[in-house]
Amino acid sequence: MSIEKKDLARHIVTSYAGPKIRIMEVCGTHTHEIFRYGIRQLLPPAVDLISGPGCPVCVTPPGFIDEAIYLALEKGAVICTFGDLIRVPGSAQSLADARSRGAAVQVVYSQLDAVKYAAAHRDKEVVFLSVGFETTTPGACLAVLQARDEGITNFSLLTANKTMPQAYEALKDSADAFLYPGHVQAIMGTEICEKLKADGISGVVTGFTARELLTALAVVLTEFPKGKPFFKNCYPRVVTAAGSVSGQKLLSQVMEACDTEWRGLGVIPQSGLTLRPEFAAYDARVKFAVPPMDGRSNPACRCGDILRGDCRPPQCPLFGKVCTPEHPVGACMVSREGACSAYYQYGGLT
Ligand code: SF4
Repeated sequence: MSIEKKDLARHIVTSYAGPKIRIMEVCGTHTHEIFRYGIRQLLPPAVDLISGPGCPVCVTPPGFIDEAIYLALEKGAVICTFGDLIRVPGSAQSLADARSRGAAVQVVYSQLDAVKYAAAHRDKEVVFLSVGFETTTPGACLAVLQARDEGITNFSLLTANKTMPQAYEALKDSADAFLYPGHVQAIMGTEICEKLKADGISGVVTGFTARELLTALAVVLTEFPKGKPFFKNCYPRVVTAAGSVSGQKLLSQVMEACDTEWRGLGVIPQSGLTLRPEFAAYDARVKFAVPPMDGRSNPACRCGDILRGDCRPPQCPLFGKVCTPEHPVGACMVSREGACSAYYQYGGLT
């Protein structure tokens, strides 16, 4: 029976009869799209698809929320943030809780909106909560440059920006292959993926449509039985070897690598991005002398295990009972990109 080209990837995936394989979809958007297209139901039992640490809100540790609340309540700053972060629990409360106690928390839709807010409220200190990976960090860098160029001195960033490659190294024993996020590699290029391959880490870059995701899985399932580390760029219409040179230049002009904490993974050396010393005036930690905050997660929440690929959301005893999108206990249920939210929304039971 001949198989039409458009159905070939699906055929390879559904008929896989090779060795057992664990594939980690690192990106939260991939997690949701794989559910939405029903791709999980196509996978044979030998293919174990697990979620990883690619949701920026999910990997942001509780200490960061504590810092933001400190800035709002102790320093009187206006916190500008994307909406998802507002309900993420800190050690004792979320920003939503703090808002009910008088904290000024403003939802914005871009980093430049936060700069505009600061320009329009010169009598207030405005702090933007800068979380995200290589895709969103250039926007934060642009915001800092715009504030500097326009002489806006009441604007700063509280950074928790992260970079993915060090996380792949930290997770290399958790999966046999990774689905690399297409939008991250569009900025960073594929050189890093080749280096990971040289370190024995396999993966493919993939886009976000059903066909792109199935093609990526088909490539993984074709390459894995050969027994050697592999890398393929399955998103060449967007991702090039060099990536976005202008985006990379912007990142390195404004930010530099630092050690940073990931929820569930601990501190990963040089996996964060923080403002360079010449931009210290826009660094909220420096500007307001924020004291170190360790942060404590709810011990009943298993977000950390989920982000390491050690358990699936339905294995958390709180999933769907105490913890729902309406009443989230942990970050992975709060965030639209979180694994718990995806499993809840699409009824994933395994
Ligand atoms: Fe945490 Fe809720 Fe997910 Fe359990 S279901 S791991 S409590 S976010």
